[in-house]
Amino acid sequence: MNQTQSILDTPIEYLKGVGPQRAELLKTELSVFTIGDLLMQYPYRYIDKTSFHRIAELNGDSGYVQLRGVLRLLATAGEGRKKRLVGKFRDDSGVIELVWFTGIHWLEKNLIIGTEYVIFGKITAFNKNLNIAHPEMEVVGSETAQTAPTMAPMYSSTDKLNTKGLDVKARRRLVQTIFEKLLPNEVPENLPDYLLQKFRFPSRYDALRQIHFPKDEQELEAARNRLKFEELFFLQLRLLQIKRRRHDTVKGFVFETIGDYFNEFFNEKLPFELTNAQKRVVKEIRQDLRVGKQMNRLVQGDVGSGKTMVALLCMLIALDNGFQACMMAPTEILAQQHYISINEYAKDLGIQVAFLSGTIKGKKREQLLKLLKEGDIHILIGTHALIEDWVEFKNLGLAVIDEQHRFGVAQRAQLWKKSNPYPPHVLVMTATPIPRTLAMTLYGDLDISVIDELPPGRKPITTVHKTEHQRDHVIHFMKDEIAKGRQVYVVYPLIEESEKLDLLALEAGYEALRRDFAPPEYQISVVHGKMKPKDKDFEMQRFVKGETQIMVATTVIEVGVNVPNASVMVIEHTERFGLSQLHQLRGRVGRGAEQSFCVLMSSYQLSADGRERIQTMVRTNNGFEIAEADLKLRGPGNIEGTQQSGIINLRLADLAKDGRILQAAREVATRILDDDPTLQRPEHLPLKRHLEENKKEAKVWSRIS
Ligand code: ADP
Ligand code: MG
Repeated sequence: MNQTQSILDTPIEYLKGVGPQRAELLKTELSVFTIGDLLMQYPYRYIDKTSFHRIAELNGDSGYVQLRGVLRLLATAGEGRKKRLVGKFRDDSGVIELVWFTGIHWLEKNLIIGTEYVIFGKITAFNKNLNIAHPEMEVVGSETAQTAPTMAPMYSSTDKLNTKGLDVKARRRLVQTIFEKLLPNEVPENLPDYLLQKFRFPSRYDALRQIHFPKDEQELEAARNRLKFEELFFLQLRLLQIKRRRHDTVKGFVFETIGDYFNEFFNEKLPFELTNAQKRVVKEIRQDLRVGKQMNRLVQGDVGSGKTMVALLCMLIALDNGFQACMMAPTEILAQQHYISINEYAKDLGIQVAFLSGTIKGKKREQLLKLLKEGDIHILIGTHALIEDWVEFKNLGLAVIDEQHRFGVAQRAQLWKKSNPYPPHVLVMTATPIPRTLAMTLYGDLDISVIDELPPGRKPITTVHKTEHQRDHVIHFMKDEIAKGRQVYVVYPLIEESEKLDLLALEAGYEALRRDFAPPEYQISVVHGKMKPKDKDFEMQRFVKGETQIMVATTVIEVGVNVPNASVMVIEHTERFGLSQLHQLRGRVGRGAEQSFCVLMSSYQLSADGRERIQTMVRTNNGFEIAEADLKLRGPGNIEGTQQSGIINLRLADLAKDGRILQAAREVATRILDDDPTLQRPEHLPLKRHLEENKKEAKVWSRIS
């Protein structure tokens, strides 16, 4: 280990001003173990000590404000859990209330009435009175000249840190102390010189110093850009290395024949012409399948874009080459629906298609497993049961996974074990459009195909927003559509935290509908997650067969049901659904030739966020546009499919906002690995060293294969 590294790697207790107790706090509260770790805790904002709001000009919409004034009064109010500390804060224009709910004891001891403070916080309007809860407070003039830059860093903190003497000011001092000692050559540069020049990036040392203590906005911007790039660049470099390594080492079955199954089906049985997008994707997959490497491809395609047909064509290629194929779906209902459509498409081809799930038991299962092992079943469709140990194929060549399962390492191993000597080719299909930036990161190690075209003749779904006041209209509308022979979904949200209440809402909604849509004229199906699979299936089938006109459901219908005659989707409490979920639900209609409608019901009063989501849905049918909007509204951590993935925990970069930096980082990483796959060139030594020193950041991501 060389000299340069050791300073940043020095345990935090050896930093002047830290000591064992504070070190313990830094470890437990912030996971800071070394001096370098502390430097990597970037400020989340900066106080511009030169600009202040005036209290008289504030209102309920002011948002975050910075004030300079004097603390006038401090008193506790309320009892027990409602106890709070209330202060009055005055500037030369007026007075505002400050309020705290925790840390009261410490605050009472430490805040000084009559003292001038700079405070920062969010304005809340409470019965027309304005206040700020838990403001950040700093005594004016408390800092030495050196530590009072125009932009003072603010660090995210915890109650414990604040009350145990490691508040923002102490944190600032510690970082200051580090930079008093630290020399530029003690922070190893991890980007090659030519990149620094190309992008006019500051050195790593400068960037670190400037992100903590920027001279001005410009300097801060430059530092942040460099550090964001660095973060995204190394992430991409790792992902691309994984992809390359797998591509170079994991061999796969060679499917070079396009034979009778495929040709007969394609030329004689295809019920429609493929869209150009479908053709392109099938071509991309065919290419993957014949090169002798294991395929790992993600197919993204909006609801209704025809992914099932693409899957079938690929499975036929597997069969043509003497292999079996399987297709896995996340729910029983969806798996069954795949089974039905694949069987329908492939009838008369002389192919054995079978269905397996946890509900298939006893003799039936035994029989099926025997046929599977002997190779008499060609395509197996089912749920997660497919990857259980007791499921043995004769020769599995291709696994299609619908709806974006994220496989853990163990599950992946289970799938890989199912074939010999190579793992099966893997095709993952998802109907959740993922914004490009996110896909590049989440699936950075996979190949991606996009079906960006819907089959012709689909009429775009008309989406409207209605409030409770307009329910009568909605009922009339439903009746009109049913009179034309259509069917209607009515969907209620169901989330775990309020499951009981949600089910009550569904039942109440059902009772109310019963009054307007009474038998014998009307029949209603009800489906929710708490029902037995058998009952659920029964109700579902009644709707599929057209015996009921209305299906009242919770989001269990979200994935995959296909009832072309259903042309109206009424969504209750729309404001409680996320955008991508709404988009999925809406995709349940518009599958037939008829004009379809989506009615978004909500209460009259909506949050800004809820309104924005509903307006987005009304404005566009495009899944990718919706995904982009969702990313902007909720941030990357909340996008479906990302939660389990540690990959999104970026320090500085924001996938919703830094798409351009990410794009650049990806391109640079690709070019570097193209030119110098093992990073042997002298100019790439810094990259190699950084990757090696930061191995622990290369988490085991849950990849799909
Ligand atoms: P996805 O799984 O992508 O949501 P599906 O595979 O269920 O979509 O297809 C939706 C509907 O569109 C099905 O009824 C299917 O038969 C039909 N379909 C698929 N491809 C085409 C095409 N090229 N032309 C016409 N209809 C198609
Ligand atoms: Mg599908």
